[in-house]
Amino acid sequence: METFDITVIGGGPTGLFALFYAGMRGAKAKVIDALPELGGQLYALYPEKYVYDMPGFPAIIAADLVKGCIEQAMQWPHAVCLEERVTGIERRDDGSFALTTDKAQHLTKTIIICSGIGAIKPRKLPAPSAASFEDRGVHYYARNFDAFSGLRVVVVGGGDSAVDYALALEPRAKAVTIVHRSQFRAHPHSVDLLRRSKVEIRQPDFEVKEVHGDGKVEAVTLVQSKTKEETRLEVDAVLCALGFVSDLGELARWGIETSGHGVVIDPITMETNVKGIYAAGDVIAHAGKLKLIACGTSEAAIAVNQAMVYINPANKVQPVHSSNLTLPISAKVGAQP
Ligand SMILES: Cc1cc2nc3c(=O)[nH]c(=O)nc-3n(C[C@H](O)[C@H](O)[C@H](O)COP(=O)(O)OP(=O)(O)OC[C@H]3O[C@@H](n4cnc5c(N)ncnc54)[C@H](O)[C@@H]3O)c2cc1C
Repeated sequence: METFDITVIGGGPTGLFALFYAGMRGAKAKVIDALPELGGQLYALYPEKYVYDMPGFPAIIAADLVKGCIEQAMQWPHAVCLEERVTGIERRDDGSFALTTDKAQHLTKTIIICSGIGAIKPRKLPAPSAASFEDRGVHYYARNFDAFSGLRVVVVGGGDSAVDYALALEPRAKAVTIVHRSQFRAHPHSVDLLRRSKVEIRQPDFEVKEVHGDGKVEAVTLVQSKTKEETRLEVDAVLCALGFVSDLGELARWGIETSGHGVVIDPITMETNVKGIYAAGDVIAHAGKLKLIACGTSEAAIAVNQAMVYINPANKVQPVHSSNLTLPISAKVGAQP
């Protein structure tokens, strides 16, 4: 069985940029992802949403960004293993790693963990009746905003996802109400857009207490948690964005040190407590960590460059500039002489 230089766990934007960078550094790389498609949260959770904070793109739809990331990464013939979940990592006698998945075993000299929020499991709406309406009006993802066209939608939550969902649905839906029990935690610019939009804001101190309907959602009861006053709101759909429950236990089982929020790394090298295993993107935790695509890509570049030195100490950490590297033909198209 072939031993790869770098195996990337997770094919989200961070993992894809790690693959790109591995190619730039001449490494033989592989990516393994549990999902059937590359793209991580962007493709699984918000393919139709605009992303405004990518360098070089004033606005880009998440699915288009993923397409570009895949094209950029796959300029090299990297191995791609989809619908394969990594379940274990073991150090071999020669210092390399054997990586076990639910389908096979993979050998690699180094590993970069880019597993994001891990198994993507949304936090559920606590209203007791909500479970019986799941996918019959109560949703935890909005993969296709047009499915909400002409509907009366209540969005629950106050983070980036909730505010972005409300803004994306406002021009399509018949009416959008956002309900949140506290202060908005979303990006101030998005909150500003929300306040200037037609979205009805029930915040702070509002919660969805009950979901009503006969086979499908017809209304919700909102409760003002301080006054206990209840209001019935006629709606066709409830879109919940209450965050995710991540399974850091999986990483601990691999022998990787975690804190409450993610993998503990050295922020200078991205190395974990295990020599030769690095982590980047949403999966990592340190005091200055920002869970943004741009930050994950930067961490991926650092991890790959460090891994190259781990593989061969004669390599330099500091890569040469992209303009000095041997890029594939496709990347040279349009290059200035
Ligand atoms: C609604 C919403 C809107 C957002 N908007 C923005 C925005 O506008 N700008 C911005 O910068 N950021 C935004 N973010 C955050 C951004 O999506 C994340 O920072 C980014 O996706 C992190 O990328 P990642 O590659 O580290 O992880 P992920 O995108 O989570 O990808 C991780 C991948 O690892 C895989 N995986 C996990 N465990 C295993 C395993 N054991 N075996 C195999 N595969 C595994 C998963 O299947 C997944 O594909 C938003 C997030 C949400 C939810």
